[in-house]
Amino acid sequence: MDCIFCKIVEGSIPSKKVFENDHVLAFHDISPAAPVHILIIPKKHIATMNDVEPDDFGLIGEVHRAAQQIAREQGVAESGYRLINNCNRNGGQVVYHIHYHLLAGEQLGPLNAK
Ligand code: 5GP
Ligand code: ZN
Repeated sequence: MDCIFCKIVEGSIPSKKVFENDHVLAFHDISPAAPVHILIIPKKHIATMNDVEPDDFGLIGEVHRAAQQIAREQGVAESGYRLINNCNRNGGQVVYHIHYHLLAGEQLGPLNAK
């Protein structure tokens, strides 16, 4: 399968990892949009939020659990952060392996700024 994030999971594309367990991987975004910009993904290939099946919601919960831990470890839990999933074209999704952006380290702009 031609998926960048599956290749990052396999290790054939390098990444700067910040968290890994059996089911979840997190690594620094290659093009950071904030001082802290980490991508958190399930190792299982799920293309988009629309493709999450009932049995996958535990896994999505694991992604959230990882986000909570990473925010703490990065020292941004109290100052705050944003956790974003982009879905499909209008959502701005570019990589079709479901992922959450953890953005932090500065005052982020309002969501209604286009
Ligand atoms: P999307 O727009 O799909 O929600 O976000 C995809 C993100 O993946 C972008 O922020 C982009 O910078 C990041 N990205 C794309 N290719 C790579 C890569 O090879 N390595 C890393 N670390 N990030 C990547
Ligand atoms: Zn994939």
